[in-house]
Amino acid sequence: MLAVQLTEWGRPPVVREIADPEPTGTELLLDVDAAGLCLSDLHVMDTPSGVFDYPLPLTLGHEVAGTVRAVGPQADPAWIGETVVVHGIWSCGTCRNCARGRENYCLSLARKPGGRNPRIGNGLGHHGGLAERLLVPSADVLVPTNGLDPTVAAPLADAGLTAYHAISSNSDLIDASTVAVVIGVGGLGHMAIQILRAMGVGAVIAVDNREQARALALALKADASYPSVDEAAEDIRARGGADIVLDFAGAPATVEPATTVLGPGGRLVIVGTAGGRVTVGKDVGLASGWQVRAPFWGTRSDLAAVVALAAAGKLTAETVTFDLRDAPEAYEQLRRGELPGRAVVLP
Ligand code: NAD
Ligand code: ZN
Repeated sequence: MLAVQLTEWGRPPVVREIADPEPTGTELLLDVDAAGLCLSDLHVMDTPSGVFDYPLPLTLGHEVAGTVRAVGPQADPAWIGETVVVHGIWSCGTCRNCARGRENYCLSLARKPGGRNPRIGNGLGHHGGLAERLLVPSADVLVPTNGLDPTVAAPLADAGLTAYHAISSNSDLIDASTVAVVIGVGGLGHMAIQILRAMGVGAVIAVDNREQARALALALKADASYPSVDEAAEDIRARGGADIVLDFAGAPATVEPATTVLGPGGRLVIVGTAGGRVTVGKDVGLASGWQVRAPFWGTRSDLAAVVALAAAGKLTAETVTFDLRDAPEAYEQLRRGELPGRAVVLP
């Protein structure tokens, strides 16, 4: 089968023919219907060797919708024919965080001090879904989509899930008078705007330095959109400051300015990984009761909730689709900031 593989650290991926996988034990084999491209893939590919404990070659793709084609002898054959999205966090299922339903903080997936980043799941250490077929370890990582359009379903697995978790894990700040700021209206951010709207927040202010992203934000019913946090600041402060700032860029130009628009008791949620830093302390002039969080991806029940939102017509994905063979070119377009919403590969 064809697969998009990282064969060398710091190099672009290559499309190559690899052996067809066969399910054994509790494994299931999916026909991949769609797979989304995430900016995180570029962070992984661009990293020098020795940082990630991932064996190469590695098939990329951690945002996958598919149809179960075959199952191993210890898996339930009733799954065959189901359309699903894959939860990309292949957690242990037994540690204290898994027992709490916080699979995204599974102890077995934690990086050891001074160690390499461990294998997490499909495309992130284990072979992923940028291929014609994908093997998953068990049905525990599958969420049924009941025939939802796979081009929309695939981006739910990361862009939708991460945005949802970043919001739902701050539910104490979400109500009809919430002032929310979304920085970075790309794959994740365009989902966040819709989720905030579905949750009925009072105001959504979007920030993105790309014109087409700002236009997308307004089309998704953001109240206003600005090219920078500084240009949005007057509007946000006129609303009493932000209750929650979701930073999906995480850049030096966004993280530090974001702290200046928090209202009292406001929270900065940093999701993007673009090198931004924030200085915190009791005496650095931040809003009283400030909080900073850096959530990671989302839980399996969050993924089910995201799929339910999409099934109810409250959440969709703005997508640009590519053939599997064109995935390397799609990654370059993502890197250059040319794509609105999410790039999705259809094998
Ligand atoms: P994307 O490229 O689709 O979106 C990023 C958006 O941020 C773009 O629209 C871009 O124009 C905007 N942006 C970048 N720099 C900016 C700046 N200085 N000012 C204003 N806007 C700016 O990327 P994505 O796939 O949505 O991923 C977003 C980030 O989230 C990435 O850093 C990715 O690695 C990270 N991520 C984190 C998690 C997590 O669990 N924490 C999960 C998935 C992705
Ligand atoms: Zn665990």
